[in-house]
Amino acid sequence: MELIGLSVKKILDKYQSGELTAVELCEFYLNRIEKINHIYNAYIFVRNRDQILEEARAADEMRQQGSTKKLLGVPFAIKDSFLARGTPTTAGDKYLEQTDSVYDATVVKKLLDEGAILLGKTNMDSWGFGGSTENSAYGVTKNPFDQTRVAGGSSGGSAAALALDMCAFAIGEDTGGSIRNPASFCGVYGLKPTYGRISRFGCIAYASSLDSVGPFAKTPEDIEILFPILEGGDGYDMTYVEYKNRRPLLKKFAFSLDLVPDGINENTRNLYLHTVQQFTDLGYEAIEVKFPVFDYTIPTYYITAMAEASTNLARYHGTRYGHLANKIKISNYDFASFGVNSWEDLFTKSRTEGFTNEAKKRVFLGAFILSEGYVDAYYKKAQIIRNYILHYLQDILTNVDFILSPVTPSSALKIGSTLTNPLEMYLEDVYTVTANLAGIPALAFPAGKDENSMPIGMQIMGNKGDDENLISIVKNFRNRTDNHKF
Ligand code: GLN
Repeated sequence: MELIGLSVKKILDKYQSGELTAVELCEFYLNRIEKINHIYNAYIFVRNRDQILEEARAADEMRQQGSTKKLLGVPFAIKDSFLARGTPTTAGDKYLEQTDSVYDATVVKKLLDEGAILLGKTNMDSWGFGGSTENSAYGVTKNPFDQTRVAGGSSGGSAAALALDMCAFAIGEDTGGSIRNPASFCGVYGLKPTYGRISRFGCIAYASSLDSVGPFAKTPEDIEILFPILEGGDGYDMTYVEYKNRRPLLKKFAFSLDLVPDGINENTRNLYLHTVQQFTDLGYEAIEVKFPVFDYTIPTYYITAMAEASTNLARYHGTRYGHLANKIKISNYDFASFGVNSWEDLFTKSRTEGFTNEAKKRVFLGAFILSEGYVDAYYKKAQIIRNYILHYLQDILTNVDFILSPVTPSSALKIGSTLTNPLEMYLEDVYTVTANLAGIPALAFPAGKDENSMPIGMQIMGNKGDDENLISIVKNFRNRTDNHKF
């Protein structure tokens, strides 16, 4: 049986009809992982084969006995920033290399409770810092369509594992585009939900006012299956917000030529305009809007993200967990035998050895942004602009169902191309960070390909709580167009 390209929905149908078993599917994915993962580096940790097959057997048995668990026997991958009991969780950095997960992140727990089977942990830019997985301490993840290009980031491993049929769906984290950017580069769907709709408990924090957890899937139908399972409070993430009522659809959307100014990549511009036309052909009224906030999103985002990252990373200093913690008996205060003189030295040594260069850069810049005398000029000002961005978008969104935007300025870049110019890498996020700054949902979907046959994605952004509407709009779009066919 052809198992390439199976969506969660198809897998569940085949399980139900008895055409396929969880054992067969897990074996298929595990064999693929064995065969191709060393080429693409999508997974950085794969769980024990026997253990996985044991869980698959149990799932098949439960199905025989009539279990109604929603994802029974469906194998998935998760970004290595999530804790999953019995797996190491590194967040893509050496600092946490030897740190075992002592509990399950809420999303992991919810998926396991519905019978899903965890295959392994996927590669990422360390701590979520980047858009290409080139900042991972475990090497870059290669693009499924072209091994000389990046898979995107920071959740590049999750998107590549899914696109390469090494799992049925995957989970990522999106602070400024980390689900949508790799989804777009790898030709799959990725949802960054409304801020606060999916618990982040057990997900290693990057920038707490921006971080969102969400799924990658092969189809919008799969996102529709996964979202209600992932959504919901757990009492551990205080940012959880419940959205009870769905907004009625207006069949109108906003687009802006400010998003595709002269000088932008032609493929992106053409595909954007083509997608506007496609939505119009599907019966949506297209409303052109101005997008002056576009110029401010990158500085507002990077000031906010770096400031918050520097405080979140302050907990990693070698004494509680992570680098050096295993080697030093803190109780003895025996600094000399470890080549340090004081606590300060110990912290410095742990962080110097453990953190990737990108992490160091962000800690420095973030600490500067928050320092006395600068916090008002940078961080607080960024929050004022952020508020303005939110209100500007909400004004637009009152009259339309969604705003259409590209996901990235171009398709996947060549490996190494932005390493010498970090600013260029930051500019890759120009379209995605808007939704995080505003806390609104955004769904990335495959919109076509460029002249190198590389996938390009578009995204639709909705008002807070519009997640389900976005999913149904993209589902309708996919059913009636063939943009997703590569
Ligand atoms: N590329 C962005 C950054 O480096 C977004 C990363 C993310 O969403 N985790 O901050």
